[in-house]
Amino acid sequence: MSHDPNCIFCKIVAGQIPSKKAYEDPELLVFHDINPWAPVHVLIIPKQHIATHYEVQAEHEALLGRMLGLAPRLMRDLGVVNGFRTLINTGPDGRQEVPHLHMHVMGGPRPWLKG
Ligand code: AMP
Ligand code: ZN
Repeated sequence: MSHDPNCIFCKIVAGQIPSKKAYEDPELLVFHDINPWAPVHVLIIPKQHIATHYEVQAEHEALLGRMLGLAPRLMRDLGVVNGFRTLINTGPDGRQEVPHLHMHVMGGPRPWLKG
């Protein structure tokens, strides 16, 4: 599985940086965003290092589908019942700050800080 030793999210996957985990399986990890915009704000990431959505290949389509499919189940488990947002930022103009593919999933009662 590809891994970038300088990548902050790869370090979270490896347990070298602590995170508040919400879900884990052999392919995916979900943890709470350190700077939440909404009452519930988690990041769904593949455990393998894929830098951005641009790098995604046909072989990753099932993985992307799993990320999207996991979101509603996670939100229900975290008590979100009135809707949520999913967001993938890609590259500089997409305002991606951490170059390891991640999907934001945000929910909970408004007002939110952003989004
Ligand atoms: P993006 O702009 O889509 O790359 O968003 C990166 C997100 O990662 C931001 O919402 C940050 O708050 C979040 N983040 C950065 N470092 C950590 C960390 N160590 N643990 C949890 N979330 C983080
Ligand atoms: Zn990484």
